Amino acid sequence: MEVYKMTNKVLVTGGTGFLGIQMIFQLLNKGYDVRTTVRSLKSKAKVLATLEKNNVKNIQLLSFIEADLSEDDHWEEAMSDRDYVLSVASPVFFEIPKDEAEVIRPAVEGIIRILKAANRTQVKRVVMTSNFGAIGFTNRDWDSVTTEKNWTDEHAKGLSAYEKSKLLAEKAAWKYIETEAKDLEFTMVNPVAILGPSLDSHVSGSFDLVKNIMNGTMKQMPKLQLNVVDVRDVVDIHIRAMVTPQAVGQRFIASADGMISLPEIAQLIKKERPQVAGNISTKTMPSWLLKAASYINATAKEGQFMMEMNRNVSNAKAREILGWTPIGTKEAAVLAAVDSLLAYQLV
Ligand code: NAP
Repeated sequence: MEVYKMTNKVLVTGGTGFLGIQMIFQLLNKGYDVRTTVRSLKSKAKVLATLEKNNVKNIQLLSFIEADLSEDDHWEEAMSDRDYVLSVASPVFFEIPKDEAEVIRPAVEGIIRILKAANRTQVKRVVMTSNFGAIGFTNRDWDSVTTEKNWTDEHAKGLSAYEKSKLLAEKAAWKYIETEAKDLEFTMVNPVAILGPSLDSHVSGSFDLVKNIMNGTMKQMPKLQLNVVDVRDVVDIHIRAMVTPQAVGQRFIASADGMISLPEIAQLIKKERPQVAGNISTKTMPSWLLKAASYINATAKEGQFMMEMNRNVSNAKAREILGWTPIGTKEAAVLAAVDSLLAYQLV
């Protein structure tokens, strides 16, 4: 694999986030000079405390700047002297919004703001964290393999506002690059549900599923298949996407090999973490029941939508072009999330 001569100044957007702080942690450990954006500098102390608690190296190489995806202020300043931008920050929400357009706007306008600023400075490459929701959510052909060539249909009934915000932000970004910033190097990473260990008690929204299984809230499990990935592998793929020349103009799915169903997750936790086994139900929900409930219940409706989605997902492109090999299996990613939920007393 060819890799650029190391230039080492990186801007990570959203340093307070579950993925953002892991990104900072690994970049500092590798000796990169890291600047991060936060919406308020009041968050700085917490980010520093988390990194220090986890014995990060080179903390003197970290700096902070305030910037909000909805405002122009400070973005150019944030990118002055940076070689790379990892555009991680985005509104992450799971409730059904009153006004869909209102919640989608910061995601779409935010990435354009970032690309415009990067185009006006000497930034070499921007890597954006998109989502598998922009790729495979409407591929219902289980005989096919979902790859980076797939695109989710933005008009599909049942696509959540959050997934739509990621899809529309990614589309807007590619359009901007093609029409306004042909010389700016741009690469996309599309992670599936991110699990693995957390550096502090702020965990990814994807942990909710595991949490609901662990605390017994999920009493009957639909035979819903999922793809998961360890957060450390997601960071690794971003760094490789940042320094690999062949990555320019490409999307990369970040997923551990294979799929795992909700009942399999329940069985796994029950077996491997006996201290919580008593709360866990392994009853499966008949498919007809989920389908019937989906006509009247919004969560069941989303479950039915997810149930139909093809989960034969390929991570071959990242392996081939980036030389990426996930360190974690899907089972290890689930169990590391379980251990973090226990360690931070979140269940
Ligand atoms: P998270 O913990 O909620 O982090 C989101 C980050 O975005 C936070 O730092 C947040 O800042 C920042 N942010 C939100 N709205 C903003 C705004 N208007 N201006 C500036 N910053 C803003 O979520 P995460 O799980 O780490 O997600 C990180 C990225 O990965 C997102 O782009 C997400 O879509 C993507 N992703 C996540 C998963 C997953 O399973 N977790 C899967 C696929 C893709 P505050 O702390 O100030 O709110």
